[in-house]
Amino acid sequence: MIFLNSETLSATSVAHLESVQDEINQAVSFSEKAKKADAKWKSKSSRTGKAAFKEIKDTLIRMCVGVEICVYCEQNEATDIEHIYPKKMYPEKAFVWDNYVLAYSKCNSHHKAIQL
Ligand SMILES: [Zn+2]
Repeated sequence: MIFLNSETLSATSVAHLESVQDEINQAVSFSEKAKKADAKWKSKSSRTGKAAFKEIKDTLIRMCVGVEICVYCEQNEATDIEHIYPKKMYPEKAFVWDNYVLAYSKCNSHHKAIQL
């Protein structure tokens, strides 16, 4: 297991995450929240989210120990911002900084397939 250095985001990016998360949290049912979280995640880097998600990825890269390696297998290159708590099951954590890691997308899917 590798330990990640923790870093904080700029106030602007934190505010962006909070505003998107607020919108998700306002959905009445769990399935609506999950649907909203998924849709918002797909468009996370468009327009208003572009700067925030660039900063998020850059910060996660800085938090990697030496090279950008996947937190799950510690072998593959980490390519994507992934959720520690899957957004499908925890839509209330979809846009929360502490829930992000840098991982290889295939390992992330595999890891979750085992966990669920
Ligand atoms: Zn991996």
